Amino acid sequence: MQGYIDSAVEKFRELLTEQLARSERIAKGGKAKDFTKMGKIVIGVCGGDGIGPIITREGERVLRYLLKDEIEKGSIEIRTIDGLTLEKRQELGEAIPADTLLALKECDVILKGPTTTPHGGNLESANVAMRRELDLYANVRPVNVPEENIDWIFYRENSEGEYVLGSRGVEIPEKLAVDFKVTTDAGTRRIARAAFEYAKNNGKTNVAIVTKANIMKKTDGNFSKICHEVAAEYPDITAEDWYVDIMTANLINEAIRSKFQVFVLPNLYGDIITDEAAQIQGGVGTAGSANVGDAYAMFEAVHGSAPRLIEQGLGEYANPSSIFKAAAMMLRHIARTSAAEKLEKALLICTETEKKVIATGEAENATCAEFSDYVMETIQKMDG
Ligand code: NAD
Repeated sequence: MQGYIDSAVEKFRELLTEQLARSERIAKGGKAKDFTKMGKIVIGVCGGDGIGPIITREGERVLRYLLKDEIEKGSIEIRTIDGLTLEKRQELGEAIPADTLLALKECDVILKGPTTTPHGGNLESANVAMRRELDLYANVRPVNVPEENIDWIFYRENSEGEYVLGSRGVEIPEKLAVDFKVTTDAGTRRIARAAFEYAKNNGKTNVAIVTKANIMKKTDGNFSKICHEVAAEYPDITAEDWYVDIMTANLINEAIRSKFQVFVLPNLYGDIITDEAAQIQGGVGTAGSANVGDAYAMFEAVHGSAPRLIEQGLGEYANPSSIFKAAAMMLRHIARTSAAEKLEKALLICTETEKKVIATGEAENATCAEFSDYVMETIQKMDG
């Protein structure tokens, strides 16, 4: 038993040293790209697993349609990135195969299909690895329900918390297991800054800081404290602390939920709360998500690879709305605002007002490709 304890203590020393170095790298800061000044932007598209290749194929088709002129001119390139499949990742024992990672790093932004993460074992989630390797520290997820006046945006810290060492816990077999949660001051400060900057630039007056600081006193306690330090620089914005348990209840409380505007959350709570919020909007098939860093940004659907749809032979019926929303967020991020607005407007018409063609994952409704045709025809009509 003493051997397990000694090796765990040694491992903890290594982890602390490594995490301290990571926090120092973050503290040095980075500079976000200015897409309005770039001669060429490379958009990488990687399919992922399950329904991923089906929905990203349609996402790419819509992007090619909207960006046709710029692609012809050469100011935008859409590049297929292969190799982010479960089979290849398992064969190599790498969360992201090394050549795929190199190819991703040659892109400016990435549209990504969901990737499967097996339960147990040692294969790290491709998403967690990508967020770390490309330092995509802000996970931004908007949720809108116009008829209920819900206009939320979630800023989930995307690079630390329970995830940064999630595959590196320690265990004494059949006795106990310990995982680690890491909150760095610099990592919290940059996500807090992103949330408050968004609030300031978009006329929002309230930011909810969601933690469990009464229990996780060090990690969540620091997260809350640093968010308030940042908040002090934004006197027109109210910062409110909420515990994550009551926040899950608040989001289904119709009497109060529309008062929330911007949320800032540590990684795990953000993961859970944003799925709940997406369900309120109409399901995880309806939500897009941005993973933003200074050098790179990756855009994806909120849902997973839907293995059951594939097993039932219904993959081609997957709803691509979520990847379209992600594509619209990408267009906004690269300063192609009018293309983003067209796609968002078309999606609103197709999924809220007209609903002539619907895709739900069921065979009695339209296929993914038929729904995409409908979205593109709607854009064409808007263009006159
Ligand atoms: P899931 O999101 O894949 O599926 C949940 C439910 O929603 C299922 O009933 C599925 O059929 C349905 N669904 C999901 N997307 C749909 C779509 N576009 N159209 C119609 N129906 C849709 O969640 P899960 O089953 O918990 O996860 C499956 C795998 O995906 C797991 O390996 C998980 O790790 C992975 N995952 C990946 C990501 C990502 O890459 N960003 C996110 C979440 C889960």
